[in-house]
Amino acid sequence: MEKNEVIKLIKEDVCKDLHIHTVFSDGVLTPEQVVDRWMAEGKKTIAITDHDGIDGSIVAVEYAKDKDINVIPGIEFDSANELGRHMHILGYGMDYYDDAMQSKLKQMLAWRKERNDSILAELRRQGIDITDEEIYAVNEGRYVGKPTFGRILVQRGMFKDLADAFNNLLSASAGFKAIKKQTLHSKEVVETVHAAGGIVVLAHPMEQMKTGESWEEFEPRLIKLLDTFVEYGVDGIECWHPSASEENSEYLAKYADDHGLLKTWGSDFHFDGLNRIYTRG
Ligand SMILES: [Zn+2]
Ligand SMILES: [Zn+2]
Repeated sequence: MEKNEVIKLIKEDVCKDLHIHTVFSDGVLTPEQVVDRWMAEGKKTIAITDHDGIDGSIVAVEYAKDKDINVIPGIEFDSANELGRHMHILGYGMDYYDDAMQSKLKQMLAWRKERNDSILAELRRQGIDITDEEIYAVNEGRYVGKPTFGRILVQRGMFKDLADAFNNLLSASAGFKAIKKQTLHSKEVVETVHAAGGIVVLAHPMEQMKTGESWEEFEPRLIKLLDTFVEYGVDGIECWHPSASEENSEYLAKYADDHGLLKTWGSDFHFDGLNRIYTRG
């Protein structure tokens, strides 16, 4: 999609949702189900932004071609930089088949697989053997990550829901905490999306606030973070997101206005009734 067309759609004053996950990452709906449901809810422009992958977005763009809804090609990259980890970056409108982007995505997939193998080994060490069949059954193997293992443990009745599995095992025990996924540098992600002709938006900055951290403690860190991403050349900030209060959103929107950046809204939908605590995998 042309850059100017993406910017026009992002700025347009209509119902939008520019941050949605499907079965091609850790969501539960297919891209077709998302398009149908968001259309029924009156959305005019949406973007599927699966983690480190474009397959769900490709399906949605194709499916929506002759429908009364705009689907912007999207992706949500994980990244890290000197200020922290899990810096998620949204890319919109880029050329999916750009060589450099494809090779970064392959790299991310390889790193995810490495981490998955470590998680499976740690589960085995704790006496939990997960089979290939169980993994495939979660979403026909379209995506395998930490939430996949969490869902299997819930299905086995070991935990009451995904949050329980994360809070009491997958994000809690020392063995799992020690397993870190390698990721791209944030600057590299910004440059890659730009080189593929896309728009770059910093996702949910409020998620960088640490548990128990006060606003007074967080604000200087937040400004440093936003300034750093401005230096990297981001085009926008996700100002409206479930992690941001109304006040937070106004704060982010003002920052975006002061710096001439786009402002976006995203539900970050994974499935109904999501407890957001475990979405950072
Ligand atoms: Zn995210
Ligand atoms: Zn997301």
